[in-house]
Amino acid sequence: MTHSILVTGGAGYIGSHMVKLLLRQGHQVTVFDNFSTGHRDVLQGADLVEGDLKNAADAARAFAGRQIDAVMHFAASCYVGESVQDPAKYYNNNVVGTLNLLGAMRTAQVQRLVFSSTCSTYGDPVSLPMNEDHPQRPVNPYGMSKLVSERAMADFGRDYGLRTVALRYFNASGCDPDGELGERHVPETHLIPLVLLEALRLRAGGRPEETRLQVFGDDFGTPDGTCVRDYVHIVDLCAAHLLAMQRLVQGNASGFEAFNLGTGNGCSVKDVIDTCRRVTGQDIQYRITARRAGDPARLVASAGRAHAELGWAPQFDALSDIVETAWRWFSRQPMPANP
Ligand code: UDP
Repeated sequence: MTHSILVTGGAGYIGSHMVKLLLRQGHQVTVFDNFSTGHRDVLQGADLVEGDLKNAADAARAFAGRQIDAVMHFAASCYVGESVQDPAKYYNNNVVGTLNLLGAMRTAQVQRLVFSSTCSTYGDPVSLPMNEDHPQRPVNPYGMSKLVSERAMADFGRDYGLRTVALRYFNASGCDPDGELGERHVPETHLIPLVLLEALRLRAGGRPEETRLQVFGDDFGTPDGTCVRDYVHIVDLCAAHLLAMQRLVQGNASGFEAFNLGTGNGCSVKDVIDTCRRVTGQDIQYRITARRAGDPARLVASAGRAHAELGWAPQFDALSDIVETAWRWFSRQPMPANP
């Protein structure tokens, strides 16, 4: 059965991959995006509403004249470091934007929502791997803005009948295995893209000793001293959204539910660099610099609930497979002047 889905942030990294999957499955897709960070060339023929969720009238326009069955909400600012420097941006884009979306959904009587949430809502781990019952004490405004959004969804569920499945991603990574869609953040701050941009620089004749790659701290309490993260492939994240939507459509979701999405494999920053060296064949070097504010030493998921209740099983559980799909896309890109 096909559905009419509104995808906020459908021009972004995760949203565009989701749009591709939904269209491939025959769903009717409306993208809502303000193109502040998204790209127009990834819309893939989906219906477009251009607007900003910070503006309630724009949010309402997304539903006008359309019968939307469910919303997938990706539109958000998503840099931890920036959120520490500019919290107002995060509360406006992520909290105000979400409240406007929820208000518009309420008016339009659309009650199914799949929310792009994050392990940043947990803050520093008190136990590992982290399951959904882990305390939620965010250590940066990005995580807090997503937690406040989750709480609003839970309250709207209790009082107004909203049904939400919140998917708490660990480190979203990798690219479309067909090589058509990729990860283009400006500026780029994420580890795998930065390592691959360094590989591109080397491929273009750059010298390894002039590396721009920084490793933020090697004195954490981890086996090699660098931070450990759980990298989960974007294709697996999108598959989980489809399962979440099915759960909502079949009426199996209670008011608010949250599921972690991760592979359960912890990989260090040095593991990532070593894997990128092997996959790209480039002699990638790096400099050790100071720790980045707000970086916990280890974040690793327990995704048992998503396995048991959504029937989700990640297909890409090896870091090398994730990096290979990312390199397939990056290796076709021109070398940016200032990555
Ligand atoms: N990292 C790094 N150098 C960089 C970017 C990231 O050492 O240029 C580290 C960062 O400190 C973290 C890990 O790589 O431990 C993953 O960072 P990323 O920004 O990709 O994702 P996050 O875990 O912050 O969501």
